[in-house]
Amino acid sequence: MAKVYTMIPGGNPPNPPILGETFPPGPSARFWRDHPPRPAWGATKLGPVKASPQSQLRLLELADLDAELARLDHRRRNLPEAAELARLEARAGELKDALVATETELGDLAREQTRAERDVDQVRTRIDRDRARLDAGQVSAARELAILQSEIESLRRRQGDLEEIVLELMERREGLVSRQDELSAERDRLGVETAEVTARRDTAAKEIDEQTAKAADQRSGVAAGVPSDLLALYEQIRDSRGVGAAALRAGRCEGCHLTLNTVDLNQIRASAPDEVLRCEECRRILVRTPESGL
Ligand SMILES: [Zn+2]
Repeated sequence: MAKVYTMIPGGNPPNPPILGETFPPGPSARFWRDHPPRPAWGATKLGPVKASPQSQLRLLELADLDAELARLDHRRRNLPEAAELARLEARAGELKDALVATETELGDLAREQTRAERDVDQVRTRIDRDRARLDAGQVSAARELAILQSEIESLRRRQGDLEEIVLELMERREGLVSRQDELSAERDRLGVETAEVTARRDTAAKEIDEQTAKAADQRSGVAAGVPSDLLALYEQIRDSRGVGAAALRAGRCEGCHLTLNTVDLNQIRASAPDEVLRCEECRRILVRTPESGL
């Protein structure tokens, strides 16, 4: 869909889009913000909108409130608690994975241990059987006796090896169980911490929301006292520049901090009080105040 670009009245050379006109995809609003067209004329241009000095001063209140709202919005989006929660959540994920891995390893070990213990039992049974045959005097031939004794010897060695394996498995199991305990304890601590940080985040967010509602209320009140054409101009500039109006203080635009030269200041001095002035540099509405240094 084609996009509608807006023009800053009195501010743009012919090339940027005209107010309300539909354009095919072209430079974005962001482009025009970053590459503000320079006015074709010299000093501060008088806009087509006229407004009483009181109405113009209200724009400064409006700009302050808009800045406050932008600050609150930025704070709301960048709560330190949100970053902390993301960190806690990532750690909780790691812990969960580690616990699952430990659980799996413990299961494998238990099976291995059962197998090894069964092997030990089998060897022990065979030793007992061989010993029973020996004790019963069933074997009398010297050669057969020697074979039986040697088999018992090797079975005993095998039993020793298998018992060694069982011990080793038990040690590994103990290590894993204590690791599992540590992980579970950390997971529990993390749960408590997450609940605390969540509560803190909610409190902070609620506070900001309340301040935002208050500032938005005040803004509506101030905006209601600004003539609609002046307000529309202010909003248009604010949309493209972020800030719609700035005070002229001690010969300087408070928006971009440009100090106006004598020619510009003389032109402003010559302007009627209801002329709406624009800063040549930043194109904001330049509001005259008692401290303007005129
Ligand atoms: Zn300026």
